[in-house]
Formats: sequence, structure tokens, C-alpha cells
Amino acid sequence: MDDVGPEGQKRLLDSRALVVGAGGLGSPVIQYLAAAGVGRLTIVDDDVVERSNLQRQTVHADADVGRPKVESASAFVADLNPDIDVVTHRTRVTKENVADIVPGHDVVVDASDNFPTRYLLNDFCRLQGVPIAHGAIYKFEGQVTTLVPGGPCYRCLFPEAPEPGTVPDCAATGVLGVLPGTVGCLQATEAVKLLLDAGDPLVGRLLFYDAMDMTFETAPYQRNPECPICGDDHVDSIDGIEYTSACAVGAD
Ligand SMILES: [Zn+2]
Repeated sequence: MDDVGPEGQKRLLDSRALVVGAGGLGSPVIQYLAAAGVGRLTIVDDDVVERSNLQRQTVHADADVGRPKVESASAFVADLNPDIDVVTHRTRVTKENVADIVPGHDVVVDASDNFPTRYLLNDFCRLQGVPIAHGAIYKFEGQVTTLVPGGPCYRCLFPEAPEPGTVPDCAATGVLGVLPGTVGCLQATEAVKLLLDAGDPLVGRLLFYDAMDMTFETAPYQRNPECPICGDDHVDSIDGIEYTSACAVGAD
């Protein structure tokens, strides 16, 4: 492809991508970043494969049931493209370990399934200057946006997380199996564009996908000058931020 060429392929090979979550969103992300030849993939997940995952988590197979997801995801990548250097962390990303996991990556793909992780990645990556390809799903709907230094961040879009327990997770509500495939592929597309420094990423734009209506809508959003993470008077570190209770930023 002229727009990528040997130079772009080399650039991908020299790139390091971090995929947080090896589930429904992470599966297509891992598949396509590996297929694209992104030289190093770091995969973070603390879960083991369950049979009920298999309708949407396509890097895992029936024989992997009971196996840590990072192991079966890593084996998938090795089968597809043995040239890729895979690093795995069988853990959740937390405030305590985020500084050991994120630095050194050119892009982070947030394929997590919970608000504390989203806010933690948003905050830490923004302060470190690392871009994020964000995606989230709910039942038959998905959303994608791209968070880069200089553009608005996730807190500009959604200043506060819902209170714990007020929003059901995927396991509780179910999700159309194909849906994370579509949304994860969009995230992978954004990640590859960021690595190639090509095209027009979804910065300051929220892409909303409704699988039932088969509609894609894009809504613009802007940086909030009062955002605690990217605003004019933002914090310098995540030390004072709580990530268990609605991801609050300080009492003031
Ligand atoms: Zn912000």
C-alpha cells in the first residue's frame, strides 16, 4: 500500500503497543495489531478464559478454557506472527503498577471493561503524553474515541464515572458477540493510524455505533479548561486521585 510502504511497515515493527484487556475488545485489537506487524505487543489481563467468553473473545479457543487470557492471547500472536515480541502481565492495571506497565509504549489501547481502569489510563497516559485508543461497549452499542496530548481527555468527555454498582457490567447484561469485534477493529484502526502518524484520528470526536440500527454517529467534544487532568491548572500526578469510588479527583 503506497500510503504505508516499507517505511511505514518498518515503523510499525519498531512500535510498542499496550493492550489493556484481552477480552471482547482486546481480541480483535491483538489480532490486527499482530497481523499489522506491530513489533511489540504488551497484553495486560488478570482473568482466565471461560466458555461463555468464546462468543466474542476470538483469540481464545475451547481448549483454552481455564487458561489465563494473557497466555492464550500470547499463543495466538505467536501462531499468527512469530516475529512479534509479546510481553504479558497477568494483573489488572492499578494505581500501584501503572507506572511499571505504561511507560515505553507508543500507544495504549484501552480495551478494559470498567470505569476505574478507564480513568486511571486516561489520567496516567495524559500526564505521561501517551495516546489512547479508547473503546467501550454496552449491549448493542459501542463508542470509540482517541485521546492524545493537546486534545480533550476522557474526563473532558465524561467528568465523573457512575457510582459503583449503578452501571451493570458486560457479564451482568450480556453483549452481542459481534459488537466488540466491530468496536475493537475501530480501536485497532486508530492505533495503527497513531503509530503511522497518518490520517485524522478521532480526537475531540466520539464515534457512537448502534448495531441494532446499524448507524454510526460522530459527536464533537472539547477540552474542558477546568479539567483536572488536561485543563489549565491540572494536577502533576495521579497520587491524590481515588480510582475505586467513582474515580474522584480530590475533595476540592
Ligand atoms: Zn481533560
